[in-house]
Amino acid sequence: MPELPEAEVVAQQLRTHLLGAQLNDCWVGRADIVREGLPTLPWYRGARLEGVARYGKSVALGFHKEGDLRYVVAELGMTGLLLFRATQTKHPQHVHVRMSFTGVRESELRYWNPRRFGRLSLLDQAGLDRYRARRFGVDPLTVSRDEFISLMEARRGRLKPLLMHQQVIAGIGNIYANEMLFRAKLHPNREASRLRKATIIRLYDTMQTVLREAIACGGSSVKDFFAPDGTEGQYKRRHLVYGKEGHPCPNRCGRMIRRLQSERSSFVCPACQICKTLRRLVL
Ligand SMILES: [Zn+2]
Repeated sequence: MPELPEAEVVAQQLRTHLLGAQLNDCWVGRADIVREGLPTLPWYRGARLEGVARYGKSVALGFHKEGDLRYVVAELGMTGLLLFRATQTKHPQHVHVRMSFTGVRESELRYWNPRRFGRLSLLDQAGLDRYRARRFGVDPLTVSRDEFISLMEARRGRLKPLLMHQQVIAGIGNIYANEMLFRAKLHPNREASRLRKATIIRLYDTMQTVLREAIACGGSSVKDFFAPDGTEGQYKRRHLVYGKEGHPCPNRCGRMIRRLQSERSSFVCPACQICKTLRRLVL
């Protein structure tokens, strides 16, 4: 479940607590948790953590040693977490990687992933560049308004799957797509390329507001998300439609929030989020 806000919270905590640390040892419990670069693992011993970046829903740790830079990229994907040593997990057998550090207060970072949808990759600079180019579209927090307008106008297809298409816009998943579409008063099945420019701008502004508010709240703890220090994200309390099927619309329009069965669950208000072209199908 971690999406962009949760990954950003993880990256922020790693920066605060681990930057400048030296990696002593990296234990990998099962080889198949490393997607690529496992033979380079010995290089990381003694390397210094020099930077932490977020790409979509992934977090990249940049290490420096003897003039070389290499990266550990952790996919948080559906169920992955990066946790400090003191943070308890429900199923410790799913800790697949342990990195031990010296020079900072946090002595260990663990990669916990019960369902193994996510992986780690050990990459050099060229490998990281390829990895990013293959997987991640524009970042919703840094894409310009004009670039976002062009992206929307150029793509055929429904709005919600487009917002969640990681190779187009990286980092938005089902929770935040639902929340931003409700706030922007847009039905998930609207055709993206037919939106007016003013509507796309409204969506752009809402996207940025929702994601920034969620980061400020520490993300949303849904399905076991915890920050590395074990804190829960509080944005869940501000969800207006996600998981709110049968609740009254927060806009007080008098209707109930409905759940649409599509490829992923969509939560909509049938009055506030009208889809003219699909009206008969969805109402
Ligand atoms: Zn409503």
